[in-house]
Amino acid sequence: MKLKAQSIEKILISACFLGERVRYNGIAQQLSSKLLQQWKTQGRLIAICPEVISGLPVPRPPAEINQSTKKVITIESVDVTKQFTQGAHQALLLCQQYNIKFALLKESSPSCGSNTIYDGTFSQKKINGEGFTTSLLREHGIQVFCENSIEELADLINLTDPTK
Ligand code: SF4
Repeated sequence: MKLKAQSIEKILISACFLGERVRYNGIAQQLSSKLLQQWKTQGRLIAICPEVISGLPVPRPPAEINQSTKKVITIESVDVTKQFTQGAHQALLLCQQYNIKFALLKESSPSCGSNTIYDGTFSQKKINGEGFTTSLLREHGIQVFCENSIEELADLINLTDPTK
């Protein structure tokens, strides 16, 4: 039976997972996954890059969350907290528009990270934490998954499949 577009559960996804050139260094890094292909075909995926939608360019200087101030600062010491906050709100808006309850976001990004982020010192050190977008989505009850928990998300999506 064919799924009706309006009845399937949609997933908000980091645009970089789909190979879009939105990463800070401008290099595409597509997530290779049969599940993603399947979800794409089913029309489930709503892509966003919170940083690019807020007006930040590609490429752009890397940014990390300063752990003392909780502000997002680039490696060139520019405060981009406002843009990261705007991007997070755009992502939330999309979720509300499409009634999205699940998001698949790139781990460790200062926007999209859901378990870890870089520690704010630009020394490649990761700590437990979440990015700005993940944090806002979770505050609004949206479950956020990453590339390492995609199977867990698939189990939840299968439970919502109206053909099962
Ligand atoms: S902000 Fe998110 S979607 Fe955009 S490049 Fe970074 S991880 Fe990917």
